[in-house]
Amino acid sequence: MEREEFVQLFREFLERLLVSKLDPYHGEKVVLVGDALRTAHFSIGSGTRLAFEDAIALAQALRDQGGDVPSALQAYETARRPIVEKLVAAANRSAQWYEHFGEHMLLDPWRLAWSYIQRSGRVDVDRLGQVSPRFVAQYEARISNISG
Ligand SMILES: Cc1cc2nc3c(=O)[nH]c(=O)nc-3n(C[C@H](O)[C@H](O)[C@H](O)COP(=O)(O)OP(=O)(O)OC[C@H]3O[C@@H](n4cnc5c(N)ncnc54)[C@H](O)[C@@H]3O)c2cc1C
Repeated sequence: MEREEFVQLFREFLERLLVSKLDPYHGEKVVLVGDALRTAHFSIGSGTRLAFEDAIALAQALRDQGGDVPSALQAYETARRPIVEKLVAAANRSAQWYEHFGEHMLLDPWRLAWSYIQRSGRVDVDRLGQVSPRFVAQYEARISNISG
């Protein structure tokens, strides 16, 4: 096998391993939570939160459906699916950012920092401005100097 082909196969294997997901969330009497259900790429740092929130939502669904297990499992899936899919999509964007790390390293430090912070698509400029106003102000001043 040629080296290029091997590298491609190994990359696909890693992608499947790191961003795996299962569908549906449950069978009649079996349900998945946390990483067993899907893995959010670890570069986003939210897998533990997702796992805990899955467990809490499952407990709430079982309580609210008063012992009707199939209905509770469906309620759990309905509650969690949109939240999980949103976060996993952000995690996948972050994973892709790391796949192009070499290109990011060619950026000047301020653009690299900006790109890194925005890699998952979850932090927009307004939010960043609230959390780190000095960073945003300095970034905008420096970039307008470079560009202009
Ligand atoms: C390198 C790395 C860095 C990460 N950094 C972060 C981070 O900064 N922040 C964050 O929130 N998340 C992070 N995560 C993700 C986080 O670790 C997971 O999302 C989280 O641990 C998932 O919890 P879980 O309970 O679903 O699974 P796990 O924590 O994997 O727990 C599963 C448990 O089941 C046990 N088990 C497996 N098979 C069997 C079996 N047959 N019988 C009995 N027991 C079994 C395992 O030993 C394990 O203890 C990171 C992950 C990695 C790999």
